[in-house]
This record gives sequence, structure tokens and C-alpha cells, in this order.
Amino acid sequence: MQNSNIQKRSGQAGRIEELFRTGDLPDEELIQLIGQREPDSAEQLFEKARIRQQENFGHAVYLRGLIEFTNYCRNDCLYCGIRRSNRNCERYHLTKEQILDCCGKGYALDFRTFVLQGGEDMSYSDEEICGIVSEIKQQFPDCAVTLSIGERSRESYQKYFDAGADRYLLRHETADPEHYSRLHPKELSLENRTRCLFDLKEIGYQVGAGMMLQSPYQTIYHILADLRFLQSLRPDMIGIGPFIPHQDTPFKDEPAGTSELTLFMIGILRLMFPKALIPATTALGSIDPLGRERGILAGANVVMPNLSPSTVRDKYLLYDGKICTGDEAAECRFCMQSRIESVGYEVQVGRGDAPGFAGH
Ligand code: SAH
Repeated sequence: MQNSNIQKRSGQAGRIEELFRTGDLPDEELIQLIGQREPDSAEQLFEKARIRQQENFGHAVYLRGLIEFTNYCRNDCLYCGIRRSNRNCERYHLTKEQILDCCGKGYALDFRTFVLQGGEDMSYSDEEICGIVSEIKQQFPDCAVTLSIGERSRESYQKYFDAGADRYLLRHETADPEHYSRLHPKELSLENRTRCLFDLKEIGYQVGAGMMLQSPYQTIYHILADLRFLQSLRPDMIGIGPFIPHQDTPFKDEPAGTSELTLFMIGILRLMFPKALIPATTALGSIDPLGRERGILAGANVVMPNLSPSTVRDKYLLYDGKICTGDEAAECRFCMQSRIESVGYEVQVGRGDAPGFAGH
């Protein structure tokens, strides 16, 4: 018993060392590393992840101001609280003026990236999205604009880019087609999601992908597929977070993911993608009161405080128990700063582009 424990420990240490040295491991070894993780191996992994993080980014953590500008959605994803068929969701969308007002408040609070996220709300035409993007870029020329508005045609993505959008977040959610089909309605496919991601990259966006962890039916082989998919896409940003059930969805009785696995995966991502921008997400902070601080100590280097107007915050509920729904933008901003400083890191003011990108 003792022997096998020792073997297991040295096996994990060897795997972490190898992952640190080469940035990769064979499939079987990754499965073992993730499958046999325990507090000791997690600590070792995080130490190595911090070395990589600090080599590439020092102690800087980048701020992104998140503007949840619409909760209308044409899709019916089984996990998501703003899915089309949720009749209990009180819908809202912001006008261009309201969005610009959020950006103005955010600018005064040092934000230099605005992330416009929403459901797939087709009431905004491409021209309107372009109008919003170009107006933000005109009023705040030293800021980056990130869109996170789901699956569109390549032509639409090109228009938004030409209007000045710098970055696009579109999580792939899961890289296994069969698993994908169990989380989504039949109109949606992993194939189209992947097509979107490669189109966005080719157009010239800084691209973010990522997966939900411990979503229903997820196995370790799916997580391995996620890592291999990310290696083929080579995204600039990788957002991961635990699945958390929402009471008005078909997955309401499914268990939430753990911060323990999310943190471990942040450590692995930092070693496999040393230069990636990896957020410590709100979902992580929602299942673990110190989730975001722990995320930074596991290798994350981005936080995304909420800039949405307080009147709509409690309506953008993707999952139950979301934090900060009652706060003002300024509260979130300074709360985040003190959290970052509490673990020895500092807020970096500026656009915080992916290494190698200057933006436009
Ligand atoms: N419509 C946009 C934005 C989606 S919301 C798009 O398709 O990209 C942003 C992310 O929230 C999703 O990509 C998903 O990974 C996450 N999310 C949605 N529901 C969730 C839940 N129940 N638990 C955890 N994360 C969830």
C-alpha cells in the first residue's frame, strides 16, 4: 500500500516535470495525471504553473470589463439559464447608448478592454453590432473590444472585425461531437462551432475558446479531446469553468463541477499554453468564495469584473448562485483589485493584448 502510494506520487511528480519541460504529454500520461490528481500533485503543478505564468507575464493580471448586453437568445442549450425556452427569464437588451455609457464608466475605472457578451440575439443586425463596435473604438481609441455573441457567418465576423473588433470569445464547450450533441439542441453542432473558431482566427481576431468542466456526461476522455482540440486551434485565450446547474433548465438536478478540477486544469493549461490569456472566471468564483484568487495562483492571468448596469445584472443568469449580481461596477473593480493583491499579484492597466498582437 505504502509502496504503491510512493510510486503514484513519484509518477505524478515525473509527469508534472515532463509537462513543465516539454509542454505536452502522451494521451495516457495526461489521463493519469488528471485522473489521479490529489492535493500534493495539485500543489506541485501550481508551483510550476506559476513559474511559467511569471516568466511570461510577471505578476500582472489583466482586467476586462464584461458588459452583458442582452439575454435574448435564439438557442436552447440544455445547460444555460438564458436558453430560449426558459419562460422565467426576464429578457432585456441594452441600447447602443446604454452600452457606451457602461464603457464610459468602465474607462474611468481603468478598463481598457470591453467584452460585449450576450445570447444570440438576432434583433441586433450586423450593421448595429458594427455601429456599436465602431462607436466604442472612436470614443475610446486606446481600448480593445471583445465580442462574445455566439455563432455567426464568416461574412458577419469579417464585418465586425472591419468595424474594429479585436477579439472574440467562443468557447467550444466540449470537443467530443457526441458529448456536444448531448448538451445542445440538434440544430447546433460541434462542426459549426469549430468552423466559427477557425474562421475567426483566419480573419485575424485574437480568439478565445474553452470548455465547461464536469458538464453532464463528461468523461476524462472528453477533457483529453478538449486539450488536443485546443492544441490544434492554438487560441490566444482559454476560458474554462465548472458547469453549474440552473433551476430552469433540463440539467437542474445535475451536480455542479468542482473548483478543485477547474484549478487543476488551469495549471495544466498554463503549462501546455504558456502564453495564453486564461481568466479566473466568475463561475469559479461562484462555486468557491476564493476561486478567483486560487485561479490566479494556479496560473490564470485575467479577471473579468462585471460592468453591466446594476438594473439588469440579476437577469443575466446562466447558472444558479452567480456572484456580484447586486454590485456596482466600481465595487467589482476594487473588490477584484484587492483580491488580486491579496495573493501577491497586481492589476495591469492597459489593453493586455495576447503576446504577438498589437490590435487595431
Ligand atoms: N452566446 C455566447 C455567450 C455564451 S455565455 C456564446 O455562445 O458564446 C458564455 C459561457 O457561459 C458559455 O460559453 C458557457 O461555457 C458558459 N455557461 C453557460 N451556461 C453555463 C452553466 N450552466 N454553467 C457554467 N457555465 C455556463
